[in-house]
Amino acid sequence: MASGARGEPTAEVRERFRNQKTRDTTPEIRLRKLLHAQGFRYRINHAIDGLPRRTIDIAFTRLRLAVFIDGCFWHGCPEHFVPPKKNGSWWEDKIARNKERDEETNAYVRQQGWVVLRFWEHDLPSVSLEAVTAEMERIKSESDQRTL
Ligand SMILES: [Zn+2]
Repeated sequence: MASGARGEPTAEVRERFRNQKTRDTTPEIRLRKLLHAQGFRYRINHAIDGLPRRTIDIAFTRLRLAVFIDGCFWHGCPEHFVPPKKNGSWWEDKIARNKERDEETNAYVRQQGWVVLRFWEHDLPSVSLEAVTAEMERIKSESDQRTL
């Protein structure tokens, strides 16, 4: 079967992309391991109250620090996203919607008092680790100042 009436990819093609892991991806696991080795504890795939089916990849619930590691394909990385040749415009629309969802998620979670950090799958986990720890320090020193 060829593509559908609206230029949608066949079920087979959609299935293939769906099977690309969206959680427990390698860069995320590497960052988690680095964080764990530093003694940090966190929740993974943490449900977002009021936003069904969306989760925070790595959540520091006490500090309210939300860390997302975005896949270069699904989240439309400017350096690496290339729409599949077949049904390219369908994929471009799909990825554009994903990016809108990311923005929505950011806005919602921030409204709930979280700080949001997003990294790309291509970012070096050791560099992401530094950014996370710097942000933690900033949040901690701000809350220290509030309690003085
Ligand atoms: Zn990328």
